Amino acid sequence: MSTVPDPTQRPTWAEIDRAAFRRNVEAVIARLPAGVRLAAVLKANAYGHGAVEIAKTCCTPDRVSMLVVALLEEALELRRNGVTFPIFVFTPLTCEQVAIALDHDVTIGVVGPEELRIVCEYARERDVSIHLKLDTGMGRMGVMEGELGEVVEVIQRTPRLHVEAVYTHFANANDPHDPLTVRQIEKFRDMLASLRARGIDPPHRHLANSAATMRDLLGPGDIVRVGISLYGGQSVDDTPVPYEPVLRWRTEIMRLKDVPPGYGIGYGTTFHTGRRSRIATCPVGYADGYARQLSNKADVIVRGRRAPVVGRVSMDLITIDVTDIPEAAYGDEVTLLGDGITAEELARKAGTINHEVFCRITSRVPRIYR
Ligand SMILES: *Cc1c(COP(=O)(O)O)cnc(C)c1O
Repeated sequence: MSTVPDPTQRPTWAEIDRAAFRRNVEAVIARLPAGVRLAAVLKANAYGHGAVEIAKTCCTPDRVSMLVVALLEEALELRRNGVTFPIFVFTPLTCEQVAIALDHDVTIGVVGPEELRIVCEYARERDVSIHLKLDTGMGRMGVMEGELGEVVEVIQRTPRLHVEAVYTHFANANDPHDPLTVRQIEKFRDMLASLRARGIDPPHRHLANSAATMRDLLGPGDIVRVGISLYGGQSVDDTPVPYEPVLRWRTEIMRLKDVPPGYGIGYGTTFHTGRRSRIATCPVGYADGYARQLSNKADVIVRGRRAPVVGRVSMDLITIDVTDIPEAAYGDEVTLLGDGITAEELARKAGTINHEVFCRITSRVPRIYR
């Protein structure tokens, strides 16, 4: 059992199992065809797991090609903390951010002609390598097929701009019955062929996220961008996860009381005891990212058994019913996520997806590494 990481803090924290993360990296790599490399997705603080620590855990193997983050700020945090590995940023950058990215050796994913023009301004003075995003059917970022002509023209006018990769993103790869993913791959092939016909032949291509990687839908990709699998999360609907959970979120019982039948619990008194009950209170709430939607829905683990969350999740506290766990005591450890409670279970109960369960865990919750 863990000891309180910092005596000034309440006993609520998330434990990150570095070895489990490393095994997931190896397991993902093991299923890739020869010559295909992994881009580890570390956006949103490595899905709440702590980007700096996670980065240090995954940039050793030679089959990891780069770290992927959403924001320039996330890339800079890694650079500030001594991460020298290639870093790729995929959301659109402002003109000022482009300059900063280049100065910090951060690879830019160019999402359309507007950003391309900005980047080309810088490429008049220096060599600039980019990855070019193609919209193959998600409608969010990327160059549309009809824009390829103008994009090619801009690239060809800029000899110091190097298109190191083209890439796209799948909208529905989680759903094996949705034909869109295969259509997106076909569209990608078409757009790639038309770039090649016009003399642009990028050395690298990446399409697949975790779900597409699980389904071996890599298309012509030689890199996969994998996030949720590395954190042990499910990516393909209704499919077992061959990876290990990495994060365990725990708290403690800090108030334990017997209440009579018919007693109201929490804000709105949404739960009333149906019998004489033992109610335990733990110092964690929605301000920590434990979703308020879990009120009266989620379970936690106490002494190896499930106990229901009863009443509303407050900002800083939850209440659980331990009537059926008579040994439960003040100071007992309580697992919120982990020990059999999966991010998928919490996501279902909160009406969201596992990705959000992880990245909702706020900075109030210390991350402890093992
Ligand atoms: C988040 C993200 C990924 C990784 O998705 P997972 O489902 O977590 O594997 C890959 N590419 C892009 C562009 C993303 O935004």
